[in-house]
Amino acid sequence: MTDPSAVEEVAPVREFWQGLGLPGLFDVHVHFLPPNIQRRVYEQFDLAGPKIEREWPIRYRGSHEERIELLREFGVRRFPTLPYAHRPGIATYLNDWARRFADDVPESMWSATFYPEPEAAKYVDRLVGDGVEVFKVHVQVGEFHLDDPLLDPVWGTLADSGTPVVIHAGSGPVANAFTGAPPLRRVLERFPRLTAVVAHMGAPEYADFLALAEAYERVHLDTTMVFTDFFEADAPYPRDLLPRLRDLQPKVLLGSDFPTIPYPYAHQLDGLARLDLGEQWLRDVCWDNGVRLFGLHGG
Ligand SMILES: [Zn+2]
Repeated sequence: MTDPSAVEEVAPVREFWQGLGLPGLFDVHVHFLPPNIQRRVYEQFDLAGPKIEREWPIRYRGSHEERIELLREFGVRRFPTLPYAHRPGIATYLNDWARRFADDVPESMWSATFYPEPEAAKYVDRLVGDGVEVFKVHVQVGEFHLDDPLLDPVWGTLADSGTPVVIHAGSGPVANAFTGAPPLRRVLERFPRLTAVVAHMGAPEYADFLALAEAYERVHLDTTMVFTDFFEADAPYPRDLLPRLRDLQPKVLLGSDFPTIPYPYAHQLDGLARLDLGEQWLRDVCWDNGVRLFGLHGG
């Protein structure tokens, strides 16, 4: 951590949810990774590597214990760990680690990932049977097609079980051949009951992913980094979409990307508040929608 004073960090976050009369925050986009992998992710951000291409000074670099404690002080009462595989052969390692983390940290949602590989159908099936709470995939980092045939049985399992999957499918920060809305649209055409949470609202293809959330009953959007000054500078949210976003009130979920963010946690909340979509919209986004989708057990 850059040693931001605890009071300075925590007070505005607590004031936000207390002011709305909420019991805390439900943040659907938080990362905890095995330390060796976390270090490599930090390196990519520090170097502004090819997947990043801009300065991105990470604010929260404490140990896992320090970061869990900070989330507790913020009043984030539920959060996932969202591991993601950047190549074949590592999902099981990440998933075993994330499972132990969820056992140890009661507020955390048991999270897992998958990759288009022959074993995916089997390990996803087993995780769902065992009660995993959320999956994460990242096509920009993983460089795979969401409609890869190896994932057909996986989408089928998730559509049947209703287990949510957080999908980074938008072309931010740097587009490649795998990003954008069309691959997710093709998956949804075949698995229309899939519970998908579009990370970063699909930045920068906001309109395309908004249309998917309107068209498919179980497609949600997470707010991760959207509406912050950092994102507004590079991928501003089109203001003409705001009335439709207001109407999607039950399908928008607070996400932050903690700890990999270059500004104080409270800034994400300010970004949402300044949209002026009403207090009930904020209450649903920051708490009720998360509780409804994921439940509170474990927390
Ligand atoms: Zn993320």
